[in-house]
Amino acid sequence: MRRKIDTVKSLIRSQPGLLQCPLCEAGLALTEPNSVACPQGHTFDLARTGYLNLLPSRKGDQKYTKALFEARSAVYQRGLYEGVVQPIAEAAAGWAKEQGAGEIRILDLGCGEGSHLWNVASQIAGGSIEVLAVGVDIAKEGIQVAARNYPGPLWCVGDLAKAPFAPGQFHVLLNIFSPANYREFARLMAPEGLVIKVVPGERYLEEVRLALHGEGAEAGEGDAAFLFAQHFAEVSTVEVQYRAAVDANDLPALVEMTPLSWQASPERKEAFVQSGLEAVTIDVAVLIGRRPLA
Ligand SMILES: [Zn+2]
Repeated sequence: MRRKIDTVKSLIRSQPGLLQCPLCEAGLALTEPNSVACPQGHTFDLARTGYLNLLPSRKGDQKYTKALFEARSAVYQRGLYEGVVQPIAEAAAGWAKEQGAGEIRILDLGCGEGSHLWNVASQIAGGSIEVLAVGVDIAKEGIQVAARNYPGPLWCVGDLAKAPFAPGQFHVLLNIFSPANYREFARLMAPEGLVIKVVPGERYLEEVRLALHGEGAEAGEGDAAFLFAQHFAEVSTVEVQYRAAVDANDLPALVEMTPLSWQASPERKEAFVQSGLEAVTIDVAVLIGRRPLA
C-alpha cells in the first residue's frame, strides 16, 4: 500500500503554485525529506500520517480536542448532515457545468475533522469532473482525524486569517459552521468562483440546546446572513430543515461535539445522554455567493 505521506507529496507536486508561505507569502515547494519550504527558508512539516502543518507556531483553541473531533466524526459518518451536504454539492457541480470546467478546486476553510468536505467532494467526483479538495483548520487535532479517515484531499493545519494558499486558486470556498474571514475569502477565490457558507438557524440542534441550557439560550447566528450579503454578489440562500434520526449510542457524541456543551453542567449532560432522544433538528441556511464586493 502506498504510504499516506507519498500520496500527499504527489498531490502537492501536481499542484505547483497552490501553496503559499504564511510568513512571507512566497510560494512553497516540496523539499526532502518531508517538508515544504519557501525561497526564504521558512520550512513546514509534512506529517507521516498524511497532512501538512502550515501553522508558523502553535495556535488554536485547546477546547477543540481530539475527543471532540472524534465525536463529530462518529456522528457525521451516520449521515446526520446528508441534507446539508446535498445542496452544497449541487451548487458546486452546477457551477462546474455552467463554466464547462473539467476541474473543480474546492477549499474548506475551517474543515475540522473533514467529513463535510469529504462528502461534498465524493458527491461531485465521478463523471467528467476532476475534484481537488483541500481542507484547512487551525486545530491540528481535527486535521489529524481528517487525514486518518479520509485519504485523498489535501489536509492542512493553517490559520484562516492568513491562509497558506496563493490568490485566486479556488473555484469553490466552503465555510461550514465556522467563523469567516471575508478578506481572505476574496483573495482565495477564483474570479468567477463560488463561496458557500453554512450557518445554523434558530432551531438547529434545539433538542441538545434545550437539554443542556434550558429555555432562553441563544440560538442561531442572526447577523451571519446579513454580513455575508454585504461581501458577495448574487447571493442566494437555501434553507434546510429536517429531523435526523439518532440513536442512544450517538447521544454522548452529540454532547461532546458541540460548543453548546462547554458551559453545561455535568448533571445536564448526563441527563441528556440518558434521555433516549430519537431525533435532532437540523436547521441551517446555506448561503451561496459570487464575486467579492469591494
Ligand atoms: Zn516564507
